[in-house]
Amino acid sequence: MPRFECTKCGKEFPFDSALTRCTSCGEPLEVKYEFASPEIHKSEFLLEKYRDFLPFSRPNKALSLGEGFTPLLRLKKLGEMLGLHNLYAKNETMNPTWSFKDRGTICGIQYALDSGYSEVGTVSTGNMGASVAAYGSRAGMRTHILVSSSIELEKVIPISVYGAHVVKVEGDYGKLYYESLRVGEELGICFINSDHPLRIEGSKTIAFEICEQMSFEPPDWVIVPTSSGGNFRGIVKGFIEFRDLGLIDRLPRFIVVQAAGCCPIAQAFREGKEEIRHFGRPKTIAHGISNPYPPSGNEVLRILRRLHGIALTVNDEEIIKAQLLLAREVIFAQPAGAVPIAALDELVSKGIIDRNDTVVCVITGAGLKYLHSVRQVSHEITTIPFEQLSSALSNARPSGS
Ligand SMILES: [Zn+2]
Repeated sequence: MPRFECTKCGKEFPFDSALTRCTSCGEPLEVKYEFASPEIHKSEFLLEKYRDFLPFSRPNKALSLGEGFTPLLRLKKLGEMLGLHNLYAKNETMNPTWSFKDRGTICGIQYALDSGYSEVGTVSTGNMGASVAAYGSRAGMRTHILVSSSIELEKVIPISVYGAHVVKVEGDYGKLYYESLRVGEELGICFINSDHPLRIEGSKTIAFEICEQMSFEPPDWVIVPTSSGGNFRGIVKGFIEFRDLGLIDRLPRFIVVQAAGCCPIAQAFREGKEEIRHFGRPKTIAHGISNPYPPSGNEVLRILRRLHGIALTVNDEEIIKAQLLLAREVIFAQPAGAVPIAALDELVSKGIIDRNDTVVCVITGAGLKYLHSVRQVSHEITTIPFEQLSSALSNARPSGS
């Protein structure tokens, strides 16, 4: 039987306790297993394929929207530019609602149904809101998405279009994570928030897939955009489980990247602190990673120290540049999804990453969801009269061709 265990003090809780955080120290819980020679099964349904590594006795394929199984793409041009010979992108924008969140959401929904809930919810102004809205609708569950009252139309539409009950909440949005857990317990709504233990289980399948796609020869580095810390924790947990089971022989080193305008984890890491502080008001275009008080921040710090990981920041200018470079080779990522690419220059020039190292950047979400940051590219588009079509196209050819 799986159980929950506190990531800090190790206190154990039964799997049916419905808890997400430790009742003693308040830190996040994670799922622990007694694995009995688990196997990777042949299936096109993520929860079926990895059922021996997940806590579901009967995964329900009808809940699936086709999550997971995302490509690992070689970045040849970008690699050459940076002098990296083995650079890859794990393209999580290929998930059904265009972000990695779908992996955690299907696990959360399956768990909620197994636990007898008929209502789910989450606190999110972005990818997670859209993901829970879509999967909640698929599962026929009443779905509540709590968003900030200042949410822009561009962000609320991709959530409300799925038919979820969207509530704009005024006041301290940062405290809503904890308040939603309290109200959810009171009303019997399963809140699948950013670092819910079952969300971590979904994220670990990113690591499983990377291992398989690299023929069980793990990369030297995995670089993850980090906000709440849930996805980072999941990816690390996936590699650890595969290593402990002997499926890979070593762990990659892990790099957390945050936006300079909201970097509570990188700041605490730099200062050698054991706990994060509230960052204050975020100021970055990378909204997807702008949680000023990440609920798994302290656990991310513990992981970085334990596994000799690194945390660093990139500024908005570097993020936009990375978005364009990445789009021009392979993926149109949203600002938050492009931060691993933005960090590469510094990592290579400081000699942290060696040119021959194998590097995987996790590209977490799609750019089409948020066009504002790259609006500048529209200025490069010229308007011509009908009659000048031929000359305009030939003038646009590189000279000599
Ligand atoms: Zn604890």
